Amino acid sequence: MAKRAKKSRTTARRNRAQQKNLSDLFHETLKDIYFAENKIIKTLPKMAKAAQSRELAAAFNKHLKETHGQVKRLDRVFRMLGKPARGKSCEAINGITDEGAEIMKEFKGAPALDAGLLAAAQAVEHYEIARYGTLRTWAEELGLPEAAELLQATLDEEEATDQTLTRLATSVVNIEAEQREAA
Ligand code: FE
Ligand code: FE
Ligand code: FE
Repeated sequence: MAKRAKKSRTTARRNRAQQKNLSDLFHETLKDIYFAENKIIKTLPKMAKAAQSRELAAAFNKHLKETHGQVKRLDRVFRMLGKPARGKSCEAINGITDEGAEIMKEFKGAPALDAGLLAAAQAVEHYEIARYGTLRTWAEELGLPEAAELLQATLDEEEATDQTLTRLATSVVNIEAEQREAA
C-alpha cells in the first residue's frame, strides 16, 4: 500500500513536470506565432499591391483583415494564460517572407510574378497551419478548451485561405498563358 502511494506520488510529480514543460512550450510557441502574424500584417499589403490578378489582390486583402482578427484571438489566449501578449522573433517566417520579397523583386512585371506570389503565400499559410494545429492540440492537452477553440477558429481561416490560393493558382496560370500568347 505504502509502495503504491509512493508510486502514485512519483507519477503525479512526473506528470506535473511534463505539464509544466508543455505549458512552457505552449507559451513559447504562442510567442512564435504572434511574431509571425504581426510580420504577415506587414507583408500582405505589399503582396496585394504587387499582384497582377485582381482576384489574387482581393484574396490577400481579405486575409489581411482576417489576420488582424487572428492577432486579437492570440491576445485573448495570452490573457487566459495571464501572460503579456509578446512576440519572439521567428526565423522561419522571416525566411519565408524574405523569399516572397525576393520573388517580388526579381519577377517584377514578369508574367510569372503572380504564380510566385501564390507560392510564397502558400508557404506562409502552411507554416501557420502547422503551428496552429500543434497549438490547438496542446491547448486541449493542457485543459484550456477555450484557447483550443480560438486556435481552431484561426486554423480554419488559414486552411480556407490555403484552399482559395490553390483555386486561384489555376486562373493565375491561365492569365500567364494569355500574356505569353499576347507577347
Ligand atoms: Fe494567420
Ligand atoms: Fe517559428
Ligand atoms: Fe494566414
